[in-house]
Amino acid sequence: MRNRSSRAGAPSRADQVLKEVEDARDEIVAFTADLIRIPTVNPPGDAYRECAELIGRRLADADLDVQYIEADGRAEHTAAHPRVNVVGRGGGRGAGKRIHLNGHFDVVPPGEGWSVDPFGGVVKDGRIYGRGASDMKSGIAAAVFAVEAIRRAGIDLGGAVDISGTVDEESGGFAGVAHLCRAGIISAHNTDYAIIPEPFGPDRVCVGHRGVYWFDVVARGRTAHGSMPHLGRSAIDDMGAVLEAFRTRLSPRLAARRSALPVVPESARHPSLNVNAVEGGQTGEAVQSPCVADRCTATFDRRFIPEEPFNEVREEIAALVARVAGEDPGRHLTVEDRMVVHPVQTPPDSPVVTALSNAIRTVRGRNPALVASPGTYDQKHFARIAGIEHCVAYGPGPLEEAHQPDESCAVDDLVACTQVLAVGVLELATVAW
Ligand SMILES: [Zn+2]
Repeated sequence: MRNRSSRAGAPSRADQVLKEVEDARDEIVAFTADLIRIPTVNPPGDAYRECAELIGRRLADADLDVQYIEADGRAEHTAAHPRVNVVGRGGGRGAGKRIHLNGHFDVVPPGEGWSVDPFGGVVKDGRIYGRGASDMKSGIAAAVFAVEAIRRAGIDLGGAVDISGTVDEESGGFAGVAHLCRAGIISAHNTDYAIIPEPFGPDRVCVGHRGVYWFDVVARGRTAHGSMPHLGRSAIDDMGAVLEAFRTRLSPRLAARRSALPVVPESARHPSLNVNAVEGGQTGEAVQSPCVADRCTATFDRRFIPEEPFNEVREEIAALVARVAGEDPGRHLTVEDRMVVHPVQTPPDSPVVTALSNAIRTVRGRNPALVASPGTYDQKHFARIAGIEHCVAYGPGPLEEAHQPDESCAVDDLVACTQVLAVGVLELATVAW
């Protein structure tokens, strides 16, 4: 269906938008660097309004109808750290499909080990550096300029494209995409296809992610003087038994399961369990206090694959913890749920997968790889709250550099992904349906 006009010798519409993106190379880089220079660190959620407004001004310049949506009613939306999202609506001329491009503009704290200023927006040797360079301020720039290139090429889409910049993805997206979905601003009524430019790189389309189950195990003991520990019961020792059972009895079982979902890296095709925190007894900074710890809490992160029903995942944990408790009279253990996110998967034959795959072939001259993410991202809210089944992640930046020191994105990858998004959107929004 694409490139029909090229037979007549005139440049095809795809060729026109490819050229417009290439001509905008310096603007795309500059906009990405400007986004990186706003330190939208989460937690706590700094400078969100400033960043939303920078994106909003750019969307208004691209002729989108811009709205700012604050997460009213959410506890994390405070005067000190307002949760401000921005949405630009594109005007559609015909009855074509509506596409939503969404990127989160919060970034994780920079951490240690940088050789450049994490918020300097440094460009050197063909790469943009800074916190968010990969995850995912370059993705937001790619989305904005993909649509801008179509506008500059003077192409009227039969459908329309909306773009949003949202907050808090790194902490679950509840004041961001989830809030927009609950408010009906993003819904299956106004969105046929969604693309999230998370950093999977120019040749990979991400069709979904594994599930997450966060839970605490709480051990309760009995305190006593630290010089006579045998008169008490150490909750930390009991937690040690839980950790040992998870490591020796559960982890090998998880390693033996493998998903059909094409999770990358390959080693993440198995379910996994991580202990995120253990807390018990005297705190690190506290004054020395010779007591047996009467309470210990550990927080776990269990990632599950679509082949594992969640009730079985939960029951497997509960049964093992109960068995460990039963192995020593007086051992008291409970499991408390924190959060569950179910796996999501876009149908592999979805038009959004096909359009981006075709665009990768056109722009990159390569066959695309369909992948899935080991961790979750905002696709879950598009799928579960808004009911938008046709949602994928596609965007610039090496996934491996997300959240790392010296995070960066190659300028060539940023431009290529912008071109792929532009050509993909063109196909989705202009094909005669
Ligand atoms: Zn991200």
